[in-house]
Amino acid sequence: MVKFQIDSIGCIKYTELRKKFLILPFSYFLMSSIDTLTTKILEFRDARKWEKFHTPKNLALSLVIETGELFEIMQWKEDHEILSDINRLKPQLQDEIADIAIYLFLLAHEFGINLADAIPQKIVKNWKKYPLEEKAKFEKD
Ligand SMILES: [Mg+2]
Repeated sequence: MVKFQIDSIGCIKYTELRKKFLILPFSYFLMSSIDTLTTKILEFRDARKWEKFHTPKNLALSLVIETGELFEIMQWKEDHEILSDINRLKPQLQDEIADIAIYLFLLAHEFGINLADAIPQKIVKNWKKYPLEEKAKFEKD
């Protein structure tokens, strides 16, 4: 039997009957980073009085548009071409990934979703949904 827990500081504990366990390091740093970044994003938005435009639908759409901009950088390239040209592409990739994260943080804020809670909870769900098979565990050790 496998047991999952999220402790008070957001650490995920994965426990088996055989007493093996794994702790994934979600910590106060994740919570404080997300809160700090969200505050900075909201300060930027509110100083420009853009809140009225940031409806859930508009934020979700903006998230998709920014994801499209990320894809545009990689359009018509094979993975090996992207990776071999990473030094040149990285600044553009970084900007688009940051845009995606900004809209994601705004959307989560709009819905009252705390990503520092939501992300570890989803990882626990994923551990349950995709358990390691005995063979895979052996190969990883
Ligand atoms: Mg962009």
